Amino acid sequence: MHAAVEITVDASNLICAVNTAWHRFARENGCEHLTDEAVVGRCLFDYIEGGATRIFVETMLHAVRHSQTPLVCAYRCDSPDLRRDMEMTLYPPVSGLLRMQHRLVRERPLITPVVFNRVPENRYACAEQVKRCSHCNALRVRWSWHDVEQLEELGLRSGENPLDVYYGVCDRCHDELASKIEMLGQLCVG
Ligand SMILES: [Zn+2]
Repeated sequence: MHAAVEITVDASNLICAVNTAWHRFARENGCEHLTDEAVVGRCLFDYIEGGATRIFVETMLHAVRHSQTPLVCAYRCDSPDLRRDMEMTLYPPVSGLLRMQHRLVRERPLITPVVFNRVPENRYACAEQVKRCSHCNALRVRWSWHDVEQLEELGLRSGENPLDVYYGVCDRCHDELASKIEMLGQLCVG
């Protein structure tokens, strides 16, 4: 099993450090350019795309800082041919520095590899546009949410062509986060 990837951010969410496992993960995923020099000092949100996703992470960071309680949540980080179940833990800050740990829980090949192409949200074509949850990787197709492994049944696979998606957070992840935040809210200090 791979070592957990860790990112440490300061009170302004600027990246202060990444660990060796980060570099390995970046290399394995074609992001060799994300060296220490490239990422340290940058804002964490420069690496998180989609307004809803940024708000999601920002809310988690805020809840951990104010409750001084760790927050653990499961998420998916699939590659085109692998299903990856991950777990993220946010630890309460020590001397203002908050550590985010990303641990691979399990990984297995996807039966049919899928390549996604990020496109901007088109508010006028929302019924046709596929939304991908950046947290659990579910896909919203014509108003209902599905796992990537159901794409074939939905008739959405067209050979090797990438599937155009825009990113956001699904209803289930939104509700799960809301209940976790509410729990942490009750523990808030100061
Ligand atoms: Zn989701």
